[in-house]
Amino acid sequence: MPELPEVETVRRGLMEHFDGRTLVKVELRRDGLRFPFPEGMGPRLEGRKITSIERRAKYLLIRLSGGLTWLTHLGMSGHFSLLSAGEERASLHAYSLGLPVGKGRHDHVVVHLDDGSRVVYTDPRRFGMMDLLDTSAEQEHRLLRHLGPEPLAEEWTAAVLAATLRGKRVKIKTALLDQKVVVGIGNIYACEALFRARISPLCISSTLAGKRRPTKRVELLVTAVKEILAEAIESGGSTLNDFQAVDGELGYFTHFFQVYDRAGQECKRDSCTGKITRIVQGGRSTFYCPRCQR
Ligand SMILES: [Zn+2]
Repeated sequence: MPELPEVETVRRGLMEHFDGRTLVKVELRRDGLRFPFPEGMGPRLEGRKITSIERRAKYLLIRLSGGLTWLTHLGMSGHFSLLSAGEERASLHAYSLGLPVGKGRHDHVVVHLDDGSRVVYTDPRRFGMMDLLDTSAEQEHRLLRHLGPEPLAEEWTAAVLAATLRGKRVKIKTALLDQKVVVGIGNIYACEALFRARISPLCISSTLAGKRRPTKRVELLVTAVKEILAEAIESGGSTLNDFQAVDGELGYFTHFFQVYDRAGQECKRDSCTGKITRIVQGGRSTFYCPRCQR
């Protein structure tokens, strides 16, 4: 499943090519994805200009002229391909390693823009979603209103996280995946951030929080989360063409993993002789080094 850095990479890619463009024609090849498309989605989008593309957690908010927001979520396997006029192959994301895009059975939405280019939304597993809402009411949308803070926002500090964790008996790994605690981190980056901060995923949240002031460990964790997400986004910018696997699933920035999916291998931390262990927490795999993560 794409996590925050992947979605942010998609947002930046879309912005670069489509900021200020007008949606001329929107072809819907089915009635919906995970949920049905809103009534008259195609005609309601047509003729509008893209004014900006924002991200909230793992949702993309494509803001259009006339105060309309096109809300999308990539689900498990959704992705956008960008094709310039007359082009049959994706210029971005190297979709299916250069196979024709826009005609496949998983290409569900094709948007034609005023410069002749197209945006194709492809989603083999159809866990993605799209909705339309008033831009002024974005924060009240049923899928957005309960979301916690953005990890990359300046306002998300050690003090904020500590206040959230205080009194929580759940393990820190579980807390990091709770979208009310902080949004968009996901399984992979939660493992990586805990490794960098040398915190065991089994640590009880409240013991990390500190009574009044945030502990040094919470400070390290917040820094690690921000750094790891920022690095993944940066690496996404330079490796966009490797971003997708042959089977059309979204890939991850795998070269950058220190701990994720490395069970049984040696810890990459200098001076540590531990081995990476895999455990299951809340039905998800956790990878960590029991020797240097406490
Ligand atoms: Zn270690």
